[in-house]
Amino acid sequence: MCGEGDAVRLARAALHFWEEPPISGEAGSGTVFFSGCPLRCVYCQNKDIARGEIGREISIERLACIFLEQQERGALNINLVTPTHFVPQIKAALDLARSYEFSSTPLALPIVYNTSGYETVEAITSLAGYVDVFLTDFKYASPELARRYSAAPDYPETAAKALDAMFELVGPLAYDEAGRGEERLTRGVIVRHLLLPGCLDDSKRVMESLAAKPYVDDIIVSIMNQFTPAPDIARDYPEIARGVNDGEYDELIDYALELGIVNSFMQEGGAASESFIPAFDYEGV
Ligand code: SF4
Repeated sequence: MCGEGDAVRLARAALHFWEEPPISGEAGSGTVFFSGCPLRCVYCQNKDIARGEIGREISIERLACIFLEQQERGALNINLVTPTHFVPQIKAALDLARSYEFSSTPLALPIVYNTSGYETVEAITSLAGYVDVFLTDFKYASPELARRYSAAPDYPETAAKALDAMFELVGPLAYDEAGRGEERLTRGVIVRHLLLPGCLDDSKRVMESLAAKPYVDDIIVSIMNQFTPAPDIARDYPEIARGVNDGEYDELIDYALELGIVNSFMQEGGAASESFIPAFDYEGV
């Protein structure tokens, strides 16, 4: 499903400033964008890279060098974007980058695993000792929506189990000051949920399932309104061919607060019009 083979392919490796504040800070997050994705979201904003149309093949040694270059640029962390299908190669590159044989200034940054949430428990547990922060989506509560929009009816069940495994692996939130007076997340889980137009009820079910987690107070829930319809989406999915309106988003925020989800981020109005999508032009690859 991801469309990739055993060679790592990247589209971009550069500082990124549009993640949640304790991930990006002022200094920027050291994003590394991998080509391919195990989901097929019809509304994907990164289709070119998610479907593997953009991607340059690199060696594991080069990937280790890219991690070190991000550290030299002053990144707050290494942010692995859509890494799921390259876990073995990423672990090998991290082993190299962290060794004094490979570099006199080995990699010492927190590692952020930035994922759709569609992960096996085995993949997550295999990351012990490699990943410090999970930045994970929880997209749907309903298998029907997950099938219609991401071709993965087992997404809700899979993502729920993966989330439990993520929390078990890294535990509650921990911060440091990154040496520059900025609060940086050094361990923990941020769960992102993107509200889709007309899907408020499903988003409320997602909030209910998160609120029911015994560790809800020890994670951050990031509730997003930046949905931007792709130009061609109206043909096959007319019901989501619009942005999310303030009323829907405010109702979801209020509902999450009523459920006791207080450890959360929300987006300011107009987020959808801002540019969160970097140029996938092989910068830093
Ligand atoms: S999980 Fe994210 S990157 Fe993958 S297809 Fe869906 S929206 Fe695109």
